[in-house]
Amino acid sequence: MPSPPRRSSTGAWPRLADSRYPTPIAAELADDVLDRFLRYVQVDTQSDDDSETYPSTAKQLDLTKMLADELRAIGLEDVELTEHGYVFATVPGTSGPTVGLIAHVDTSSDESGTNVRPQVVRDYDGSDIVLPGDPRKVLRPSENPILAERTGHDIVTTDGTTLLGADDKAGVAEIMGAVAYLAAHPEIEHAPIRVGFTVDEEVGRGVDHFDIEEFGADFAYTLDGSEIGRIDDETFSASEVRIRIEGHSVHPGTSKGKMVNAIKLAAWIVERLPQDDLSPETTEGRRGFVHPTRIAGTTAEAELRFIARDFDAGKLEEHEQLLRSLADDLATEEPRAQVTVTVEESYRNMKEFLDAEPAVTEAADEAARRTGMEPWREPIRGGTDGAMLSARGLLTPNIFTGAHQFHSVLEWASVQDMATSAATIVELVKLWAEPEWATRSRSETHDRTAASPR
Ligand SMILES: [Zn+2]
Repeated sequence: MPSPPRRSSTGAWPRLADSRYPTPIAAELADDVLDRFLRYVQVDTQSDDDSETYPSTAKQLDLTKMLADELRAIGLEDVELTEHGYVFATVPGTSGPTVGLIAHVDTSSDESGTNVRPQVVRDYDGSDIVLPGDPRKVLRPSENPILAERTGHDIVTTDGTTLLGADDKAGVAEIMGAVAYLAAHPEIEHAPIRVGFTVDEEVGRGVDHFDIEEFGADFAYTLDGSEIGRIDDETFSASEVRIRIEGHSVHPGTSKGKMVNAIKLAAWIVERLPQDDLSPETTEGRRGFVHPTRIAGTTAEAELRFIARDFDAGKLEEHEQLLRSLADDLATEEPRAQVTVTVEESYRNMKEFLDAEPAVTEAADEAARRTGMEPWREPIRGGTDGAMLSARGLLTPNIFTGAHQFHSVLEWASVQDMATSAATIVELVKLWAEPEWATRSRSETHDRTAASPR
């Protein structure tokens, strides 16, 4: 029988020369990042896709207000809570381009975010972690190779009844920890920083009101990734496709030869979707898909909604065309029906934009190396706020946070990995103050002459 993991939420542990930390800065940041993280996850910030307000839920402001206060307490002067609920703040720097650091405060609606009770499993012994609020919920290293490699780490989990909200409060805590560290160490030379905490990322509206001009960074990084070392510079390109079918409704008692049932015509389309390919449930890696997400209707009219996804813009167009062709076929099959297709772009693969200024992503790689990791890439089968910001001109790759199994009651994070991410942020802004990096920034060479701490 393996002994149960030791749990405590306070207890100190040896920090000097602690081999679980790749650098002294990571070791120094750990307590503060954990303390902040535990505090932030207990604030319910779930966003709501059905809401029409912005932010979608007022409770997100509970955390953004707290963050604004904490940034002021750290000593930052121009802390601003915008009318849309974002927090913006500046850390003046010594030289180099202005670096944006972005994380979102809201959590997914896939699981409850109310009464989150985090637990810290100190010095994890590698056994199964039974979550105390629901013993059927168990984190098993046998199903979770990354957890298995975290033996000896301090692991934060939920109690099994809610999500943890490490997506993206790990990113928030890491940025806060890094910024507090730099404010406490004025002797460290680093580039000027703009901090941006956003709302409503999980409902796809995270940067709807994000004013890039006002934010004023030359480029930025989201702290919203997972496994340490992984830097994301590639997302899906995405669009939403709607097929609207107008049939003809007649009293069913007298409808022979007259009724055109829109529900059946919608089903006709669904039946003709590819069966063994081009769906989320049949693809992985770089293969894209079309995916029906919603069907609603009556005899008289029906609407089908799809998302289309691919890493390649040309292939995304092919997926959209597939749906247009099905709609055309239906119109031929049942000429009495009115079939219309609308396509709306959601976001584009950020690699198209990031490739124009490779130094931005390469700096994240270098910061990871200086924090003891070998960085790696893997395309995200989804989007990030950075994808939308990059398309709008603020290049924003995504950096790891050290947290895992997002949107689930089995969500967990390693304290040591979160500290490693925070230390990577510190290295990143130090690096951008170095002349050999600063001169690689397009903004520095073209339209700026020197650092402009605000
Ligand atoms: Zn996220």
